[in-house]
Amino acid sequence: MSYPGVELFQTSAKGRGLKATRKFETGQAVLKQEPYAYAVMSSHIDVVCHYCLCAPGQPGAPVEDLHRCTGCKFAQYCTKECQKKAWPEHKQECAAIKRITPGKPVDQTRLVGRILWRRKREEKVNGEKKDGKENDEKKVELVKIEELEDHLSKRNAEEKEAIDEKVYSFGDYFTYDEMPDSDEEMAHLFAIIDCNAIGLNDHRGVQTIGVGIYPGISMLNHDCSPNCVAMNNGPRLEVRALRVIQPGEELCISYIDSLETTEKRREKLKLQYYFDCECDTCTKGEELENLKHALVSEDIKEESVKYINQFSKDMLKRIHKTKQNQNWERMCNQTLGTLAQQDCVIADTNVLKIAVLNHAVEVQSFLRRQEPALEYAERVAAAYEKLLPPVHPTLGMYLMRLGVIQWQIQKTEAAVATLGRAASIISKTHGDDHGMFKELLGLIHQCKMEAHMSKGAQREFRMAKKKAGLKLPA
Ligand SMILES: [Zn+2]
Ligand SMILES: [Zn+2]
Ligand SMILES: [Zn+2]
Repeated sequence: MSYPGVELFQTSAKGRGLKATRKFETGQAVLKQEPYAYAVMSSHIDVVCHYCLCAPGQPGAPVEDLHRCTGCKFAQYCTKECQKKAWPEHKQECAAIKRITPGKPVDQTRLVGRILWRRKREEKVNGEKKDGKENDEKKVELVKIEELEDHLSKRNAEEKEAIDEKVYSFGDYFTYDEMPDSDEEMAHLFAIIDCNAIGLNDHRGVQTIGVGIYPGISMLNHDCSPNCVAMNNGPRLEVRALRVIQPGEELCISYIDSLETTEKRREKLKLQYYFDCECDTCTKGEELENLKHALVSEDIKEESVKYINQFSKDMLKRIHKTKQNQNWERMCNQTLGTLAQQDCVIADTNVLKIAVLNHAVEVQSFLRRQEPALEYAERVAAAYEKLLPPVHPTLGMYLMRLGVIQWQIQKTEAAVATLGRAASIISKTHGDDHGMFKELLGLIHQCKMEAHMSKGAQREFRMAKKKAGLKLPA
């Protein structure tokens, strides 16, 4: 095992898990792992480098354009260097994609293909090595890919059929000669992806751009108030401590959004990961749960609560629809109308209110009405501070957003303070060499320079920067 301070063990109720064998400080890296296999998601095929996952044109990206692989005309890379490094993993994939063109392989097919090709490469290397030394690729695993949980027996007929269909068409892509003979083995590979694949985000943490398999990190069990968080920096996944962890403690991450209510979290965990969560937050986290349903006062009548809950749910559906139709003025009116009614009954930490407040920030920012956007963003940030622990990626990222809005309306001093708080959290949850942390430092630097200028001079400074082709925060 190549991770100092981490050990695989048998838990009492959750099967295998990982535990600390030493103390970890808040923000300290617990585990870092390159993917066993990863793939860019279909939605981002033409947008990001298929090797390093950078998006050209965004801050921190090395070049402006992507270059297509001349073989398959599917894969794209930001530099020749990335293309070269990607080749061992892309070589056979390139031929497979050509084979099914003009069809395009789905994400899971590409991922399973990469797993199988990697396994073949490893078998070859192991076969050639007679001195008994383990190869480097293998050393970073805590478990073998075949040993990951697939929960196949817990799936219903429809889910099993969907897997069978993927197995059935896989041979067109991979070739039937090369494919493992056993359909069970193939079904297992597709099934472990459902339960173990980890979504990879862009450096801002806004969009999921890829998906990867990390056999070691997959051994981390879930907790609704976890002591660790897993964040990707490009394709590499890094697990960091969200608080001080003592030797012997089990290491856990959250598989889902911690801001959801207990009912919703348990429902999602059961549906996607096939278990009933019995963590302390689910069984004893009453205080936190009350905040998520909080009212503006104790005197509110039960029928008012019933009414506002139903009204909020209905309006959220309507706002979502309006957003899809890109009718921004209407979306603005709907969010403000909903908030006006909610304000009389439910508090800002109530999940139904946060959802509407988030829509309000989004639509006001989109319509370039930064003053109201700031007011709502401040309310969301205040609610997150009550609902989340002091070191949490969602809180850090939200403070970054709030700081950018403050900067946009030239509240530079407030922006420096907010962005500084964001940076202190992000350095612990994402690490100092993460693109988001570097972008934050750039923002803080710009704000500090502007803090001593008059408003007019600030505007001129920003225009000059824009003219010179330098990126401004958005
Ligand atoms: Zn690249
Ligand atoms: Zn290619
Ligand atoms: Zn739980």
